[in-house]
Amino acid sequence: MKKDVYEFKETFKERLLSYGVLKRTNGCWYRLKECPKCGDKKWHCYIKIDSNDDGPMGYNCFKCNSHGTVTKEFIESIGYIDLDDIVIPKFIGGRKLNIGETISTKIPDMTVSDVDNIEMVCKYIQSRVGRYPSLEELQAFHFIGNPRKYVTDYLGIDNIETVKNRYWFQMTNGNIIGRYKNDDTDMRWIKYKTTKCRNIGLYRISVPVDLYQPVNIIISEGVMDSIGLYYNYTGCENNLYVSVMGKQYTKGIQYAIDRGIFGDSVSIRIMKDSDVPINQMYVDWRMKALFKRIDIYENHVAKDYGVIPELFDVHKVIDKRR
Ligand SMILES: [Zn+2]
Repeated sequence: MKKDVYEFKETFKERLLSYGVLKRTNGCWYRLKECPKCGDKKWHCYIKIDSNDDGPMGYNCFKCNSHGTVTKEFIESIGYIDLDDIVIPKFIGGRKLNIGETISTKIPDMTVSDVDNIEMVCKYIQSRVGRYPSLEELQAFHFIGNPRKYVTDYLGIDNIETVKNRYWFQMTNGNIIGRYKNDDTDMRWIKYKTTKCRNIGLYRISVPVDLYQPVNIIISEGVMDSIGLYYNYTGCENNLYVSVMGKQYTKGIQYAIDRGIFGDSVSIRIMKDSDVPINQMYVDWRMKALFKRIDIYENHVAKDYGVIPELFDVHKVIDKRR
């Protein structure tokens, strides 16, 4: 173990604790009062400080969704620590969590604002899941209010004809996925891809969760499943919603692990499509040790979860293989 890394992390931690701007949570995770990225002052920004690990510290803000390695710039923007006094040591790689995986990539924070016309998408979501979203909810859903600008400015694509007549949502890797306005097409969903980010693209809803309380990670297949579950599933609360864009539900578990969200207070609920037989579900049960529990659920009255409340009847599936 590197002595300078240990001392740096301990000093960093003790200083911020002494100013009352850092709180302990579980294990190596701490909460910062103010997020240096978005300015949120309600302790949504988590920092992993493991003084016994030679790797860099990581952070994850549940308000603005930014995450990555704690850099010199990050420390400067927290304040309270005079970097003229303390030398930042050279960290050693080989982190156990690949929390820094996305740092090299800036996913643009382009979602939707009050200048965008949201009536169409709100009506569409209402027709699917029975609820009319607020602007804040559309932002949490990573709805792209101006897909034309997103595709040309960020993705650098000039063939944008197909942007029209679709509702676009941003993925974790910057790709966008667009749902056709109605069911009159065989291409209901299409994607615009970026080569700027090599991460697996998942869909997620960015609602803040309280990591002091038991957390549930609700994993489903598609965008409308997550949105339907967000509105209509009442089986548990303090939930994170992740869609894996297919049937490899384990990707959702890996996503949680990569972001440091695991442990005895974290449960996984895999919401499988009801046409997937339980014996064809691939879940890496070795991951089970990292969570309180991993359970599989299905909807008894519909194929999936992008449906109105009347079509929600979700039950746990008994998996006899375990
Ligand atoms: Zn933030």
